Amino acid sequence: MATTGKIGVTTENIFPVIKKFLYSDHEIFLRELVANAVDATQKMKALAASGEYNAELGELAVRIELDEAAKTLKVIDNGIGMTEEEVDRYINQIAFSSAGEFLEKYKDQLSSIIGHFGLGFYSAFMVAEKVTIETLSWKEGAKAVKWTCDGSPEYDMEESDKTDRGTVITLYIADDEKEYAEKKRIEGLLNKYCKFMPVPVVFGKEQQWKDGKYVDTEKDNVINKVEPLWARKPADLKEEDYNEFYRALYPMAEEPLFHIHLNVDYPFNLTGILYFPKIKNNVEISRNKIQLYCNQMFVTDSVDNIVPDFLTLLHGVIDSPDIPLNVSRSYLQSDANVKKISTYITKKVADRLDEIFRNERQQLEEKWDNLKLFIEYGMLSDEKFFDRAMKFCLLKNTENKYFSIEDYRKAVETEQTDKDKKVVFLYATDSESQYSFIETAKSRGYDVLLMDCQLDSHFVNLLETRIENARFARVDSDSIDNLIAKEDKIRPELSEADQEDLSVIFQAVLPKENQYYVQADNLGENAAPILITQSEFMRRYREMSAMGGGMNFYGEMPAMYNITVNMQNPLVARIMASKAADVAPAQVIPDAAEDASEDVKRTVTEAKETAAAAHKSDLEAFAGDNEILKQITDLALLANGMLKGKDLSDFIARSAKVVEDAYLK
Ligand code: ADP
Repeated sequence: MATTGKIGVTTENIFPVIKKFLYSDHEIFLRELVANAVDATQKMKALAASGEYNAELGELAVRIELDEAAKTLKVIDNGIGMTEEEVDRYINQIAFSSAGEFLEKYKDQLSSIIGHFGLGFYSAFMVAEKVTIETLSWKEGAKAVKWTCDGSPEYDMEESDKTDRGTVITLYIADDEKEYAEKKRIEGLLNKYCKFMPVPVVFGKEQQWKDGKYVDTEKDNVINKVEPLWARKPADLKEEDYNEFYRALYPMAEEPLFHIHLNVDYPFNLTGILYFPKIKNNVEISRNKIQLYCNQMFVTDSVDNIVPDFLTLLHGVIDSPDIPLNVSRSYLQSDANVKKISTYITKKVADRLDEIFRNERQQLEEKWDNLKLFIEYGMLSDEKFFDRAMKFCLLKNTENKYFSIEDYRKAVETEQTDKDKKVVFLYATDSESQYSFIETAKSRGYDVLLMDCQLDSHFVNLLETRIENARFARVDSDSIDNLIAKEDKIRPELSEADQEDLSVIFQAVLPKENQYYVQADNLGENAAPILITQSEFMRRYREMSAMGGGMNFYGEMPAMYNITVNMQNPLVARIMASKAADVAPAQVIPDAAEDASEDVKRTVTEAKETAAAAHKSDLEAFAGDNEILKQITDLALLANGMLKGKDLSDFIARSAKVVEDAYLK
């Protein structure tokens, strides 16, 4: 029966093509061969189950045998095998012609096609210089066949002396692919691609530590010991099963927070288990932890185009025969099935969170701090997810209490609605440094949220646009009366000149590295003399540009603070009184007549400038000598954590003196 023939290939020299275009992913040959062996074994099981095959099945397994010295790698199965006619049909004709078609179809974008080609059996030629197939079909009276091909489009077929059912594929590893003749490499590949295959995959023997080294035991080393949990019914599984499976997937990771078991069969087929990991601060670190399978066969762990970006933070497995695996990633993105899958997964994730919100609220609150970043990221990046998440997204206040957004609004509505009928959501980003502001707000009966997550500045902006009639205000961004203005306030009446003087004397005692806008206000007799705040608007833009929001103009500006001087405070009144007593008003120089000569006009302008400068330096001298002024300014700086270095030590010395004066004299 020995025959020699030419493989029915449409593209004349297919092997160089295979080698070249599959270059980036040579290793997948092993997955393809094991998958074929698994298929053949599954078919055997099916034949036995249907009664078509009645003889002994034997122990069904796929075995991988490596001879490092001879550089041969065998993939052995006791599946259905192939008859001579089948080898001719499946190997000589079909596989090649379909590969030819494929290459023809995608020839314009060949270079963009990476991996996942699904050339099946022929991918063996990416790493082997010669391949043989020895096979005996399960069919009565079938003769064993040996097929040999050395990488040219020519093959040999002859009778084989194989006596047991099944197929042995032998790869003679090429010199430039030596790594595939190394035990470690093959073991690594089997662990990567075959961990969940539905038939035992055996590679060598289990090892044991004996007399100072590892030695083989009698026991087969089965690669796929871990059960593919996702293929089982959720009803049969316990929490611990899911956690154990997680540990098997990610031995180094911390316990997950929650899991979602996915299971659909219409309009596409998809199963899987996704886990919410504990997300610390770095968003990048935990990406690419979702593994994509196709019928329990590992395909990839970069799922960027298959699930929405924020879901790549999840861990776990997705198994779907409906995701096209043999095309380029850019193609994946526009694939309708992939889009549906992505929408489905997003919806499932939201549903699961909603269920946890309704039934396990306590748990959700306990885990919220670790979950929050993920959810905010989702809400910021996915419109649909945002809409769903508005129901279960929690807000935490500075007393560590959690509220749904709707509940929170209801809770603060009565107290925190301002004169424009807007509910003001007060928030702090740091409960330590903003402590005094938080306390002031609380003393008014207001509640303060804690928004200390790295995405919160964006998140606050988003919420503000989506919650009707609400406004967010950081608790230290203005005086509390202005943050939640209840009625139109009567501002202190200050002449323009007095307002200017006020600004000069405070600027004189404030640290030089920032910019200040000094304004007078009535905050009440008992409120602090000055309040240092940073406007909500300016701060948000600075923060967002610092995070790369593209508004660099604001990022580069010096910090700008508002200095609110409480004109009703007695200390301020006293400073203003001594200013009036000690500093002569600016000299008033009348404007030059309109028809005056240029010379006269210039002289008048210069005189005005000199007078203004003299007045300014009088004010600065006054400010420099005024201990009360220095003391109250430093106290306000101290409250904001802005008093440093020499200013701080001067303040301490001055305060010590004040205490001495008060108690010892
Ligand atoms: P695919 O698996 O995508 O159909 P392959 O080139 O991998 O393409 O294989 C072509 C055909 O050869 C398979 O469909 C199968 O019928 C047959 N075949 C390959 N390997 C085996 C095997 N180990 N046992 C039995 N049949 C096999």
